[in-house]
Amino acid sequence: MIKFTNVSKCYQDDTFAVRNLDVEIEQGEFFVIIGPSGCGKTTMLKMINRLIEISAGEVSINGKSISEYNIHELRWNIGYVLQQIALFPHMSIAENVAVVPELKKWDRKRVERRVDELLEMVGLNPEMYRNRKPNELSGGQQQRIGVIRALAADPEIILMDEPFSALDPISRMKLQDDMLELQRKIRKTLVFVTHDMQEALKLGDRILVMKDGEIEQLGTPEEIVYNPANEFVETFVGQNQQIVLRDTQGVLSESGARR
Ligand code: ADP
Repeated sequence: MIKFTNVSKCYQDDTFAVRNLDVEIEQGEFFVIIGPSGCGKTTMLKMINRLIEISAGEVSINGKSISEYNIHELRWNIGYVLQQIALFPHMSIAENVAVVPELKKWDRKRVERRVDELLEMVGLNPEMYRNRKPNELSGGQQQRIGVIRALAADPEIILMDEPFSALDPISRMKLQDDMLELQRKIRKTLVFVTHDMQEALKLGDRILVMKDGEIEQLGTPEEIVYNPANEFVETFVGQNQQIVLRDTQGVLSESGARR
């Protein structure tokens, strides 16, 4: 579905942000990219919707190089959720959610129906919330709006860059649960960046562990925990050992049941 073929990104100062990446992300999978700060996660994500230009190699979507897509078409068909809630403060919740459908010139009735459907999907009563401004919502509710805004025009792919890391632990857990529930319904191709191993194990169908712009391991949560490819992965899981050990049974059986 999304295929990286020998992809590198080198910035002007000659640092390689990512180097010779070969990865294929499958249709409908919850794909998590994890690694320490600066390992190239965001670079990898932003190359998919061409927010960052590739230096060498090729990224293709459905067999066609991303450089061959019209840039607007590409961006409108890829949802994007950021860490910092990037809602437009002067616009209502409904207007915020409707940004891409409006760009695509959907008719008004269709947009209104879609906004209400999405609000309901994440447990927010449309009558109560559609006319509010973002600052009249909690941080967790705003981030839910960020998620449904990315879904609004029904894109095939959603990119999420540490979408829950600014939230308090309880809201964060709740949004992770909601995200799993949502994915069961929508079955999109989700590419999700995090530096939190517990989050990766809970959400990912597969997890890509990166270090210094290269792949250390690509595997299921079970493989990452029980068969780490090398010492780095082992240590990276181990740093979260208390949490992982406490949760592994629950997390893995839950993710097992999901498949
Ligand atoms: P992560 O998301 O894993 O924290 P990034 O993809 O943001 O990592 O960055 C990967 C590497 O590329 C880092 O070493 C970072 O300093 C470098 N980098 C990112 N953006 C730029 C830039 N615009 N110019 C030069 N180097 C950059």
